[in-house]
Amino acid sequence: MASLYLKNLSKTYPGRVTAVRDFSLEIKDQEFLILVGPSGCGKTTVLRMIAGLEEISSGELYIDDRLVNDVAAKDRDIAMVFQNYALYPHLSVHDNMAFGLKLRKIPKAEIRKNVQEAARILALEDLLKRKPRELSGGQRQRVALGRAIVRKPKVFLMDEPLSNLDAQLRAQMRIEIAKLHKNLQTTFVYVTHDQTEAMTMGTRIVVMKDGLIQQIDSPQSIYDHPVNMFVAGFLGSPGMNFLEVLIIEQNGCIFAKLADAQLPVPAAGGQKLKEQGYLGKEVVLGIRAEHLCGSGDLLDRHPECALRGRLEFTELRGAETYHYVKIAGREVVVRVSPEQRTETGQEVRVGFNMSKVHFFDQES
Ligand code: ADP
Ligand code: MG
Repeated sequence: MASLYLKNLSKTYPGRVTAVRDFSLEIKDQEFLILVGPSGCGKTTVLRMIAGLEEISSGELYIDDRLVNDVAAKDRDIAMVFQNYALYPHLSVHDNMAFGLKLRKIPKAEIRKNVQEAARILALEDLLKRKPRELSGGQRQRVALGRAIVRKPKVFLMDEPLSNLDAQLRAQMRIEIAKLHKNLQTTFVYVTHDQTEAMTMGTRIVVMKDGLIQQIDSPQSIYDHPVNMFVAGFLGSPGMNFLEVLIIEQNGCIFAKLADAQLPVPAAGGQKLKEQGYLGKEVVLGIRAEHLCGSGDLLDRHPECALRGRLEFTELRGAETYHYVKIAGREVVVRVSPEQRTETGQEVRVGFNMSKVHFFDQES
């Protein structure tokens, strides 16, 4: 068990690539923290600095209030699980898990006990004699987790541990890792570029872009209140719809104007736009697919909150159906009721739940 405090961490690699800039974050004891962002945004670099595998260019790293910048990786009591498992092919499952403990000269009886315990938690008991090549991808990943568990570290770092698994296994392992966290009651820092993993596994999410933190919050808060277009577009599937609109005032009401249609902005939101000086300016209106509709109550009650478009494509996702509709030259994704049957190419109306609309600066 441990808390971590990252204070203004930066990393510049030789050749002057600054991979992480001024990264500040407190990670609470027993927290399941997710670092998410596109490939190359600096996630692995942050993990490697925490693990002690990469030198910190500037800033301070504390584990339980102890400054550890100059503490060697092996003395940090942190275990890291890698994307490619990094198992020893010539060793059995048992010996792969025991390897790190043997190196540390842990007594044999204790090694046996720890390996048995990890094997039980991860359902590997029947596979202890096998070699990695005799295992499936999911089993190999469990061995990699087992190797971390047997050390009973203060902190688990996981770098995209599921990205080599197929979709079904990934979904299963997501739940297993979340359970593992509950079981072990240890601090987890989990890196992913997968928005589903980010939204479902952790207690808090850190969204990164180009080495910089964009937002830190609970999955739900980030989903409901993204601070910029990058965060709004990155989390959620499908990502948020964006439409460029002109903010105007008419008879004391604020409208978002798009081509020849105008959507009324609720009073509080309109007032805020006015205060921010957006009147007469172009902004980006963001709205999620589930806050748009193709039929039903909202459309009947608020015809003024609808735009006309043409249905381009229907995507059936089992429990959900999405319409891809072209509105004023832009494609938007609408979650529609599964009963709604519309032919591709037809004109449709798309209702906007204006209380769920976000407005963003164009640059964000
Ligand atoms: P992520 O894990 O989010 O994909 P990384 O932390 O691996 O991102 O990389 C962040 C940036 O640092 C990238 O531009 C990458 O090319 C660069 N980088 C990573 N490792 C090194 C290295 N050892 N030397 C030089 N540049 C590196
Ligand atoms: Mg990486």
